[in-house]
Amino acid sequence: AKKESGSSYSFFNQQMAMNSVSKLEMGNHLRQSMDRNELEIVYQPQVDCLQGKVTGVEALLRWNHTTKGYISPSEFIPIAEEMGFIVAVGEWVLRGACLQMKAWHSILEDPLTISVNLSVKQLNDERFVDKVTQILEETGLEAIYLEMEITENVAMQDEQLEALGRLRELGIAISVDDFGTHYSSLSYLKRFPVTKIKLDQSFVRGVQTDDKDRAMIKAIISVAKSFQLQIIAEGVETEEQADFLVANGCSQIQGYYFFKPMTADQVQVRLQESLQP
Ligand code: C2E
Ligand code: CA
Ligand code: CA
Ligand code: CA
Repeated sequence: AKKESGSSYSFFNQQMAMNSVSKLEMGNHLRQSMDRNELEIVYQPQVDCLQGKVTGVEALLRWNHTTKGYISPSEFIPIAEEMGFIVAVGEWVLRGACLQMKAWHSILEDPLTISVNLSVKQLNDERFVDKVTQILEETGLEAIYLEMEITENVAMQDEQLEALGRLRELGIAISVDDFGTHYSSLSYLKRFPVTKIKLDQSFVRGVQTDDKDRAMIKAIISVAKSFQLQIIAEGVETEEQADFLVANGCSQIQGYYFFKPMTADQVQVRLQESLQP
């Protein structure tokens, strides 16, 4: 038995070593990916079911690696965070998304909002808020049309909360992503300058099958109401899920049921068809 555990231990080490090599390799490629035009932003529309129209889009990053093909952001964002260039990647996304939304505003009667995912690590950069201000000026997008989605995978520090407060002061909306799954506890909403809760797709998935998920959704919607926050559900794939959410007071919906993430060109086509879901 000892021998076995010994060999599995060295196997484990090999795996770890391999993982860190490919991580480093991936990280180095990612560093160059922006210059090589391998990164792309796709956009997923957000629908307000009561108004019956699209009110915003979320920007989602895509990496088309030259040899490995498509790599998921859930794979490379953590690497970018670990290796420290999430700041550069995040800035690239923010500028691109704001520029794109500004262009859409020029062809739309009702301006849409743009939601950009923010890594907590970006808030550690003391120049971050100035950078955001500069990007808004540069692109001409008004701050009230920008929303930042933040997921908590570690408890936030005072300096990070302060940076969020400064973003709020600029007029930028702040949304808690994946609400209910990480550190985003109730007491948190008290100190956190948030405007919106994003109901996680793991709860939405259980709408038809799981009493507890339904209870969770109702509870989170009521929390949003009590705190006078907006609420949007993500990962909505079926009519039943959408109906349940709307019936229980969550009329903002994002998910494959209405729209998958699309390229800017594809969104533009839908905009010209007046964006009816
Ligand atoms: P997220 O912010 O929670 O984004 C939602 C994810 O669910 C996206 O995956 C989206 O494509 C997917 N999705 C949307 N509708 C549905 C649906 O109906 N069903 C299912 N099964 N999935 C749906 P994606 O694009 O692979 O992004 C994964 C995660 O990577 C994001 O999760 C976000 O945390 C992160 N991410 C993406 N872009 C960025 C970025 O620019 N910056 C940062 N920091 N993180 C990003
Ligand atoms: Ca998000
Ligand atoms: Ca989410
Ligand atoms: Ca997520």
